Amino acid sequence: MIGDDLVRARGLVKRFRTGRRLLGSGGHHVHAVSGIDLTIRAGEFFGLVGESGSGKSTTGRMLIRLLEPDQGSVEFDGTDILALPERELRRYRRHFQIIFQDPYAALNPRMKVRTLVEEPLKIHGIGDGRADRLERVEKLLTQVGLDRTAMDRYPHAFSGGQRQRIGIARAIACSPRFLVADEPVSALDTPVQAQIINLMLDLREQLGLAFLFIAHDLNLVRRVCDRVAVMYLGKIVEEGGGADLYRTPRHPYTRALLASTPSQVPGAPVAPAVTGEPPSPVSPPTGCRFHPRCPVAVDVCSASEPALIDIGAGRKVACHLE
Ligand code: SF4
Repeated sequence: MIGDDLVRARGLVKRFRTGRRLLGSGGHHVHAVSGIDLTIRAGEFFGLVGESGSGKSTTGRMLIRLLEPDQGSVEFDGTDILALPERELRRYRRHFQIIFQDPYAALNPRMKVRTLVEEPLKIHGIGDGRADRLERVEKLLTQVGLDRTAMDRYPHAFSGGQRQRIGIARAIACSPRFLVADEPVSALDTPVQAQIINLMLDLREQLGLAFLFIAHDLNLVRRVCDRVAVMYLGKIVEEGGGADLYRTPRHPYTRALLASTPSQVPGAPVAPAVTGEPPSPVSPPTGCRFHPRCPVAVDVCSASEPALIDIGAGRKVACHLE
């Protein structure tokens, strides 16, 4: 069940310096995220979609302070997590965790699964001694669809889907309330993708978890997300209820993304697929950042940046034609 606001981010900005010469100035800034607001409610499955390089992963990491924003605020259940001292933040981290795209890279290949899943319990002082922690590990593995024999094996002995299950067991070990799932099924085959998504939906139901589900495949997100935000070049260009946004996409970029995904929504308006590469985030276009690729751009689009406006019924769109 979806509850009150759990994560509230306002005005998030993140720039990365690139090409800086040793002992010198110069270089450029990559404008990864350029002033976005997001609110995710308790128990909500929230999708964040867009092409590669749109700033989705950077946003997800800022929401759980794996990256420090250059500007903006992040509240978790009313607590300003950017103001937490390092020591307190470490304790607080049990409430929000991340599932990575590549579980193999995220799992230490020299550790057995029992140690990998026990690790977060030890870090956060959960469990009454080793025996109790290992009992918890066994339960966690069952919860993600693995049996106890998995405990004595190393990550390389598992398939991609099974490794993602181990990653999820680690992520839920400390009973978090919010998970950032960063392209968690992009590297998996289609049938396995569905199994992992179903597992996350089950965990949402059982544990009341909220998810930020990051993906580039809009159709994948449509099936599972309560609400969706579409990002383009560091900005949110459209936001709305999952089914609603797919039935009646309002922003030309959302329409183009839908048109470029393999299976379209029945009855959805057909638009030209998005073509060309996104412009460089080092020097984003003036005005609407989408204007060099937009099939319906008008003069004002290159001169003035459209604000993300509330158009009612939970929808927000950033386009001069709205
Ligand atoms: Fe296209 Fe202009 Fe709307 Fe941007 S503001 S999406 S360029 S019509």
